[in-house]
Amino acid sequence: MASIPESALASLQDALTSSIVYTPSSPGYQESLIRWSGTGIKQAGIVIQPTAIKDIQTALLWAQTHNVDLAIKGGGHSVAGTSSSAGGLVIDLSRMNNVTVHPSTKTLTVQGGAVWKDVDEAAAKHGLATVGGTVNHTGVGGLTLGGGYGWLSGGYGLTIDNLLSATVVLADGRVVTASAAENEDLFWGLRGAGYNFGVVVDFVFQAYDQTDPVYAGIVAFTPDKLESVVGELNRLMETPDPRSAAFCILATPPGAPGPMVNVLVFYNGTREEGATHFAGLLALEPVANMVDMVPYEQVNALQNPMATYGGRKVLKGVFFQTPLSGEFLREVLEYLTEKDKEHPELVPALLLEFYDMRKTCSVPLGDTAFANRSATQNGAVNMRWTDAASDGVFRAMARELQARFKAQYEAENGGSNPDDVPQYINYAEPGDSVVNNIYGANLPRLQAIKAKYDPTNVFHKMHGIPKSA
Ligand SMILES: Cc1cc2nc3c(=O)[nH]c(=O)nc-3n(C[C@H](O)[C@H](O)[C@H](O)COP(=O)(O)OP(=O)(O)OC[C@H]3O[C@@H](n4cnc5c(N)ncnc54)[C@H](O)[C@@H]3O)c2cc1C
Repeated sequence: MASIPESALASLQDALTSSIVYTPSSPGYQESLIRWSGTGIKQAGIVIQPTAIKDIQTALLWAQTHNVDLAIKGGGHSVAGTSSSAGGLVIDLSRMNNVTVHPSTKTLTVQGGAVWKDVDEAAAKHGLATVGGTVNHTGVGGLTLGGGYGWLSGGYGLTIDNLLSATVVLADGRVVTASAAENEDLFWGLRGAGYNFGVVVDFVFQAYDQTDPVYAGIVAFTPDKLESVVGELNRLMETPDPRSAAFCILATPPGAPGPMVNVLVFYNGTREEGATHFAGLLALEPVANMVDMVPYEQVNALQNPMATYGGRKVLKGVFFQTPLSGEFLREVLEYLTEKDKEHPELVPALLLEFYDMRKTCSVPLGDTAFANRSATQNGAVNMRWTDAASDGVFRAMARELQARFKAQYEAENGGSNPDDVPQYINYAEPGDSVVNNIYGANLPRLQAIKAKYDPTNVFHKMHGIPKSA
């Protein structure tokens, strides 16, 4: 993209009143580009970090007048760089991260640039919590706008199922509220395809009284236990408990010779309740058991040591049904182990989520734009390395794993169904989707809403909505 003329840059800087501004010659410019993954970093023409809506309006209109590429940054976890711009304008919302707790209504007003740590900690001060991301440095923005699963999903559904309203700055600079009572078509679209309509400057969530502490932590098993562990996770899903969830993580802990079978367990209750629920799993003789009572606001920090910033990464979504085949997962573990040995610079991991999906599935598919209301479980291949020259090799490996999961799903379901959207949109960045149409049956309505609120397609970087034929 051609660089932005100096005169245009100066006109934006003059018009802004509440923003920190970085251009390539400013001190701190490179730091302002940092994203969770190096693959998401792009050299922007200008980065602004506003604290007031007025500057967002000004910047949006400026970008359109000067035909400048635009990106909105929430928590910055897009590995494909959808919150970054090569040569254009980044509106980085990270300084708009206030959380206001309303104890009388048990609601939370969260600014569009907050991360889940901000929410968990503010809500916990009032004994409250809502459904948020399980890695607490992910952004409220991206995670909410694509749906949002978290440890409390068994009880309260998706993050969007607890969204009461949002304030959005549209491409034409108007500021609108979207809720069940106002601009309800926009509210519908925001919940599952929300990156496509504007800059969301605040979200209002329903929160709930939260038990504190909760039962959570990692249990690690040697690879030979894989089938028994999967069998136990399958058994738990036969009689799901809305207060419980578990992640099976095939990854190599520091010092281990290869990938181990790790399970991150969660029970929203007492030690006794958690230990009883996971008794079968704990009886499988783990080599490490780090489960304990954890303050609720720290639960979403448990995975942080495995999900640090830095390096180059892929995050590619997979999907599966329970019961998950132990034989299939054994083949996957062997593949990961082989690649781990072959490529010492690679840190491979596969995370499989086991949620009680009944609450999520109780919302009819047409009630929100989110197209994946099914009992299908999600997972993600998450690989990390350092050398950009290896991007192609490791992305191909992640795609290979994705393809294996898809083939397994289709084999179990008698082929693929074009109306079926088993893939979670937030784990499928543009180009990574292995389903034909990530919006499924909700696409035509989304196209109409897009034409109304963003007719010139200013917001298109994350799963842009294709125009109707
Ligand atoms: C380590 C890790 C853990 C994760 N854990 C979970 C999990 O537990 N549950 C889950 O459901 N998902 C999870 N995800 C997926 C996550 O939901 C997506 O990666 C999400 O897009 C990240 O949002 P972000 O704001 O951090 O990223 P960004 O890169 O800032 O944004 C992602 C997209 O959303 C847009 N966007 C962000 N904020 C706004 C806003 N306020 N207004 C308009 N557009 C906006 C951006 O423009 C961009 O296109 C995880 C991802 C990672 C990398």
